[in-house]
Amino acid sequence: MRQVTDFSDERNKGWCVHCGGPYETDDHMPSKVFLDRPFPENLPVTPACASCNEGFSRDEEYLACLLECILAGSAHPDDVERSAIARKLRDQPGLRKRLEAARRSEGDGVLWDVEVERVNNVVVKLARGHVAFESGEPRLDEPAGRGFQPLLAMSPAVRRDFEHVPDLPQIWPEVGSRAMSRLFVTGVDVFDEGWQEVQSRRYRYRVDGAHVRMVIRDYLAAEVWWD
Ligand SMILES: [Zn+2]
Repeated sequence: MRQVTDFSDERNKGWCVHCGGPYETDDHMPSKVFLDRPFPENLPVTPACASCNEGFSRDEEYLACLLECILAGSAHPDDVERSAIARKLRDQPGLRKRLEAARRSEGDGVLWDVEVERVNNVVVKLARGHVAFESGEPRLDEPAGRGFQPLLAMSPAVRRDFEHVPDLPQIWPEVGSRAMSRLFVTGVDVFDEGWQEVQSRRYRYRVDGAHVRMVIRDYLAAEVWWD
């Protein structure tokens, strides 16, 4: 993916962007569980402590598997499209059982019981990573708001607002941050494009000031914002 040099404040890079703990590992943003090989070059990374890095990975794995099962209409490894996820469902019978139990037939369709707290954890984690990477200013405080729902469940008006690209950035990025560098590298176009596509049909996101929007697997739309 397109990448630009970051000149933002070095003091913001010495600690975990999720909890302010020690910088022990580089966290891919998004985690590779949401992407397929060959992985995009220059995948963004943010500093994380070991415990945050490990703590989120189970929930991320759950969400990636859940989305694949929803798209397939089944939790059977043979049915899902992404081979990496099929492998996880084969190797982890516990996770597979849990997802099978979440599947409910209703009328002609299939509904899935979602473990909302786990999805919430992942969405806020991803947003923290994106906002830290793009603006150079990590947000450790609680977000002012958040939400997620399937893209298909949005009304046309809500969908338009979600995808909408403002004519001009509402909040100007810090001088030297990646977002500001993008503005110089590509002109105002970058804000017209708005979205950063990490991998087609897998993951895209956009950051406007402290408002982060993400679309995972072309299915789940999520947004998180800070005051
Ligand atoms: Zn941490």
